[in-house]
Amino acid sequence: MTTFADFHRRSIEERDTFWAEQARLIDWHTPPQQICDWSRPPFARWFEGGTTNLCHNAVDRHLALRAAQPALVAISSEIGTERSYTYEELHREVNAMAAALQSLGVVRGDRVLIYMPMIAEAVFAMLACVRLGALHTVVFGGFAPAALAARIDDAEPRVVVSADAGSRGGRVLAYKPLLDEALQRATRPPAQVLLVDRGLAPLPLQPGRDLLWSELRQAHADAVVPCEWVDATHPSYTLYTSGTTGRPKGVQRDTGGYAVALAASMRHIFDARGGQTFFCTSDIGWVVGHSYIVYGPLIAGMTTLVYEGLPVAAGATPDPAVWWRLVQRHGVTHMFSAPTAIRVLRRQDPEHLKRYDISSLRALWLAGEPLDEPTARWIQDALGVPVVDNYWQTESGWPIMTIANGVERSAGRIGSPGVPMYGYDLRLIDEATGQDLQGAGQKGVIAIEGPLPPGCMQTVWRDDERFVDTYWKSLPGRFVYNTFDWGVRDEDGYYFILGRTDDVINVAGHRLGTREIEEVLAGHAGVAEVAVVGVADAVKGQAALAVVVPRDAAAGGDPARAAALEAELLAHVGAQLGAIARPSRVVFVGLLPKTRSGKLLRRAIQAVCEGRDTGDLSTLEDPGALQQVREAVGRGL
Ligand code: ATP
Ligand code: MG
Repeated sequence: MTTFADFHRRSIEERDTFWAEQARLIDWHTPPQQICDWSRPPFARWFEGGTTNLCHNAVDRHLALRAAQPALVAISSEIGTERSYTYEELHREVNAMAAALQSLGVVRGDRVLIYMPMIAEAVFAMLACVRLGALHTVVFGGFAPAALAARIDDAEPRVVVSADAGSRGGRVLAYKPLLDEALQRATRPPAQVLLVDRGLAPLPLQPGRDLLWSELRQAHADAVVPCEWVDATHPSYTLYTSGTTGRPKGVQRDTGGYAVALAASMRHIFDARGGQTFFCTSDIGWVVGHSYIVYGPLIAGMTTLVYEGLPVAAGATPDPAVWWRLVQRHGVTHMFSAPTAIRVLRRQDPEHLKRYDISSLRALWLAGEPLDEPTARWIQDALGVPVVDNYWQTESGWPIMTIANGVERSAGRIGSPGVPMYGYDLRLIDEATGQDLQGAGQKGVIAIEGPLPPGCMQTVWRDDERFVDTYWKSLPGRFVYNTFDWGVRDEDGYYFILGRTDDVINVAGHRLGTREIEEVLAGHAGVAEVAVVGVADAVKGQAALAVVVPRDAAAGGDPARAAALEAELLAHVGAQLGAIARPSRVVFVGLLPKTRSGKLLRRAIQAVCEGRDTGDLSTLEDPGALQQVREAVGRGL
């Protein structure tokens, strides 16, 4: 029995042997000649000489054994539909979509922009692209025209695939008018638009440009489009980061390295096998959706659920058990979600989780944001299965830190996303000196010594310089990949994320991660959600300001109760962390500004508090939230 420590050590010290073994988890058309070409850092070329295809590995290769097994189940709790596709049916749909794209002139190396709700056709389109060797650029459905236009201009797609509308909380959001406006704004719009008509919103077609999927599908119903064998280093897609800290970066991913990394993660991290069922509640517009709704589960021969809807409602009707009914109905074994969704669930009675038989569930993985202890404990108790935090980025494509369930079962540690995964040579670095921090309890920047393992970003799309300058040259005297996150390690090697390096605040010479203060505040019974930011302070340089969503909504509105709760929270932080960490103010709001992927937009809160311009807000979910902060902060001044 290998321990994880041995497994990890081998992945670094015997890098090529280790990854050559992992490479056997996928199908190659021609096997790789060289495992890792690191002759031109920081550009790692994995599995050089090998040729393969992502769609072949996700679909075709399972036809021999799994043709009749469900591959994909598309569920919309919004409009009350469910449609299951076996691997054979998925293969047919993907071939039809590939033929349709081909008929529109899409060839190897072209880009196709996908602007879609969470429907099966979105997955068909992604798989059809990589089948042809074309790159997909998925843009989160419902993005505003300006944000969409900027991405169209950056990707220069030959075709855009879209739909009439998405739905959220029972409200239909028409995409076509947003897309039309974006295409008008774009300087290099594509010649063709392929549209799925769900019958949810009017779908006026522009002659010569707009085509209906239903018609092309019929024309290509029995098409067989062979997989394009591409080099392992051929780009499979580009995807923008969430834009939490500034202008989103266009992450470019390869083919062979990504396929191997995902196949390995399904086995070693998720301990998953073909025939099991994966339910990832993310969106295909984010990296988690790319890796763990689409490619990871399909490469492993699992059944994957594609879900349109909220965690606590079926359309406009509240339904706190909507997910757990799906777990029972589909025998979900592996579930993946985000802390933000669990915080929404936590406002409901945990009894709802017990209404259904969820005994098929083996574990729940959460990623995207710090998982605070109260939330982790609540969901773990409510579900009765392990809850596994995992830390990663759009750039990495798969977890950087977590617990590898398939290698060695260990309990993990609540509040920590675990230990560095195999392949990642992780460092904690002193931002001022660039030195490695060795001991326990020392706070530093989380960085990765090159080469980045397979599956990680190749470069920034069409901007090698930005890749090198942004990620590799930002720590003094070092040439390492900067995650821009701040962390600390305990004596057993478990990491704790203290916040983004942008969010580290300096109060009278003491450096504090905003996360540390948030964690303490989240532990107070009166707090539902909290964001802490550093704001300029004439005396201390910076002071912490806490924006709190009270558990009892009324407490924020009543000045006397708000003042009492503020005093209590300040005392609570003082007692737990010391006076230095005590925020200068606590303000109350009904909701916090978040990105559409559910991440706190601290930089925007900070800008509002300091009266500065809020910068790029293209990924902001609800502008009303920022307005609430503005008013709450203004009230006390
Ligand atoms: P941008 O890079 O455009 O500012 P972003 O960093 O939010 O946006 P993503 O790649 O979606 O874009 O998010 C990755 C970041 O999310 C990480 O760098 C980290 O800050 C945070 N994160 C992800 N998972 C965890 C986790 N388990 N615990 C703590 N933080 C996490
Ligand atoms: Mg980032």
